[in-house]
Amino acid sequence: MQTNLKIDAARLWGTLMETARFGALPGGGIKRLAASAEDKLVRDWFATACTDLGLTISIDAVGNMFARRAGKNPELPPIMMGSHLDTQPTGGKFDGILGVLAALEVVRTLIQAGFETYAPLEIVNWTNEEGARFSPAMLASGAFAGVFTPAQALSTADRDGTTLDEALQAIDYKGIIPVGGRKIHAYFELHIEQGPILEAEAHAIGIVTGVQAMRWYDVVITGQSAHTGATPMHLRKDALVGAAALALAIQAIAKAHAPLAVGSIGTLDVHPASRNTVPGEVVLSVDLRHRDDAILDVMEAQFKVQIHEIAEKYGLTATCALFWNSPAVRFDPVLIDDVRQAAAKGGYSAREIVSGAGHDAAYIARIAPSTMIFVPCAGGISHNEAESASFDDCATGAQVLLDAVLACDARRGG
Ligand SMILES: [Zn+2]
Repeated sequence: MQTNLKIDAARLWGTLMETARFGALPGGGIKRLAASAEDKLVRDWFATACTDLGLTISIDAVGNMFARRAGKNPELPPIMMGSHLDTQPTGGKFDGILGVLAALEVVRTLIQAGFETYAPLEIVNWTNEEGARFSPAMLASGAFAGVFTPAQALSTADRDGTTLDEALQAIDYKGIIPVGGRKIHAYFELHIEQGPILEAEAHAIGIVTGVQAMRWYDVVITGQSAHTGATPMHLRKDALVGAAALALAIQAIAKAHAPLAVGSIGTLDVHPASRNTVPGEVVLSVDLRHRDDAILDVMEAQFKVQIHEIAEKYGLTATCALFWNSPAVRFDPVLIDDVRQAAAKGGYSAREIVSGAGHDAAYIARIAPSTMIFVPCAGGISHNEAESASFDDCATGAQVLLDAVLACDARRGG
């Protein structure tokens, strides 16, 4: 079935700009950490917008928000669309937010046209996708998908020792419905690409076929603290020199598996962090990714050999622990095709793409057919106040979301 419903691009853009007030930063970005006072403001706005449309809001025990529009057959499992409204400490206006507000725009368009779907539609706002306040990322969609227990998610604490449970209660968003355990017919998530590919190739739409595998490690390199003035170079056990060598080794490993491999050190804590003391210990985080689990296995093995060799070379000891392991995700071929057809119907330039970043959809894909739609962001920049997506690209993404969801729904009814 074909429809000619058109989303309202200006209305969508208006909601993006309006909600950007909540946690607005001077540089044009947003600081809206999960379950913070700013997060409460945007959640309240979202809840009001949905109830004004006649949608039913429910909130689960980890703060995930669901806004439901019953379809012709309310007994069917819902088609779900959404993303997250939390941001990084210096985040942008689009990461996650576009996916939730485009879903809202889809529902507004349907209501305005008097179009009733067969299956119920649900807009979702997942709690703490970013992992900036409560680590790891995608904590609440993970709980929904059974990756973590609700108790594990709720007991996760921020740097000040506040648990997610306490933070949700403080903003009055610890809901009562159980976490997960229900059937979802399909899950669609629109998101900015967060990389440079679509813009560089002048595509409006990324047909996301999956999410690359990623592994995070905690590495501790131990040497010996010593006086920087009195300790000759050949007698030092400088943990930071080891960390520097490891940074170069990780770069070499990723480049050896170009162009699809990436590897980074993201955090580096130098101890005792004194100007005139040779660093005795460095604690760092490593992030390795590839779309193929088998190649990531090879990269991991090379990484571990390098840690060992570097420690030996510089007279250090080193330990490496796997902090997080997210296998490669392949999205649902039927839903991917819905997105492909929706892009073609609109005449939008599109290409298939594998997500370099993690997303809630990666967890939801474990329990329900899922897929994602990407739109370009300027320079591929995100997790940055300068993050920017164009009016037209946001509108195109929302239109493809609408058409893909309707195609999915039409199969239910047909
Ligand atoms: Zn995001």
